[in-house]
Amino acid sequence: MHRQIVILGGSHAGSQAAASLRDEGYDGKLVLVSAEPHIPYHRPPLSKAYLKSDVPPQDLRPESFYTDRNVDLELGVEAGRIDLKDGRIEVAGGRTIDFDGLVYAAGSSVRRLDIPGSNLSGIHYLKTLDDAVALKAALSNAEHVVVVGGGFIGLEVAATACLLGCKVTVLELSDRLMGRAVAPEISGHFLDAHRGRGADIRLNTGIAAFNGPSGKLESVETVGGETVAADLAVVGVGVLANDALAGDAGLDIANGVVVSAELATSDPRIVAAGDCVRFVHAASGHSVRLESVQNANDQARVSAKTLLGKGAPYTDTPWFWSDQGDDKLQMAGLAFDVDRRILRGNPDEGRFSVFQYAGEKLVAVDSVNAPGDHMLARRMLAAGISPRPADAADLSIDLKPLVMAKAR
Ligand SMILES: Cc1cc2nc3c(=O)[nH]c(=O)nc-3n(C[C@H](O)[C@H](O)[C@H](O)COP(=O)(O)OP(=O)(O)OC[C@H]3O[C@@H](n4cnc5c(N)ncnc54)[C@H](O)[C@@H]3O)c2cc1C
Repeated sequence: MHRQIVILGGSHAGSQAAASLRDEGYDGKLVLVSAEPHIPYHRPPLSKAYLKSDVPPQDLRPESFYTDRNVDLELGVEAGRIDLKDGRIEVAGGRTIDFDGLVYAAGSSVRRLDIPGSNLSGIHYLKTLDDAVALKAALSNAEHVVVVGGGFIGLEVAATACLLGCKVTVLELSDRLMGRAVAPEISGHFLDAHRGRGADIRLNTGIAAFNGPSGKLESVETVGGETVAADLAVVGVGVLANDALAGDAGLDIANGVVVSAELATSDPRIVAAGDCVRFVHAASGHSVRLESVQNANDQARVSAKTLLGKGAPYTDTPWFWSDQGDDKLQMAGLAFDVDRRILRGNPDEGRFSVFQYAGEKLVAVDSVNAPGDHMLARRMLAAGISPRPADAADLSIDLKPLVMAKAR
């Protein structure tokens, strides 16, 4: 039995791991170490509601939750090294914290651009509450906003900046929006929607430099030689797994901490959960690293059990959402090996889903303003149910009975 479990990382995965360890009956010492100074909070609102309202992002759990369950919060404390031999982590000031079980939940960090002008003031990244506070203040005075990267976070910010009356330009390197994550029909819908809101979206456009002779951003220069006026830039070009501490300690890493089906790392005392984890997606057999609240929470639950010797494989169906302007995008499953896409609903009406198949098997469903389809898709994917493509395409056919029949 463990005497002291340390959770390294205080966000969605770390906080859920604390809850799950206690729910599973672990009653030894439990310490949560987080570099951020805040009680773990909901990250998704940072690029959504928070930027356009005065409502601060909520804590994931109230402070009393940690007190009541004897979880020692070490906030604003960065772990600098994991010492596997002596079973301890080293934190700032030469202090060490012993563990005989560790949940590695260090998450991810934004990928930063290293091009001329990268250090000018007026260039923002968005990961933490502190980033969001700074971005929100800057947006309230901004006129020309350039968003670098047409992924989820960039587009969520772009939609809000348009709403706030800014002149918004989105520069996206590839030939479609959110190209790594959604079906082409979804990219097309959001291209029209953002343009309809007034954003100037430029695809196939890389950036070469930030310009600002005075030290403050004045424009962005594209690889093609265009200059776009900007007093504020928001860069959303992906994140990198925080796996260096694990790798330096000697754990297996490969763009993420490599784990078993039960989320154990290559050291049996250590499990991992969340954005920092590389695992084999059970339904497809592909090796993946996911960046979503669902994945962080569900992996935390499984990894807590594994650490306590009650492990079972992680098989939860991935799902994700993004709010952009009035549109709600929801995704379920992972679109690997897709050879057929079926539209359910009418994109012109702004409410539809794309059912994606690998052969006869349904592997992913992306939905726009169709929460019923999304919830059903999650249940179908979890149960391994694949509606016939012709049925999926036909709105007059109710797909719910398929799920109900399987449940009986
Ligand atoms: C602006 C924004 C919007 C998002 N919107 C959505 C959304 O709509 N839907 C969705 O599903 N997902 C969304 N995500 C992604 C989601 O927030 C992440 O997948 C989730 O936060 C991952 O949780 P995590 O605990 O694995 O890692 P992280 O959230 O990355 O947290 C890791 C924590 O570990 C700490 N840490 C790292 N290294 C150390 C160290 N050495 N010592 C101490 N502490 C350390 C970090 O400070 C951080 O607090 C969004 C993310 C962002 C940034």
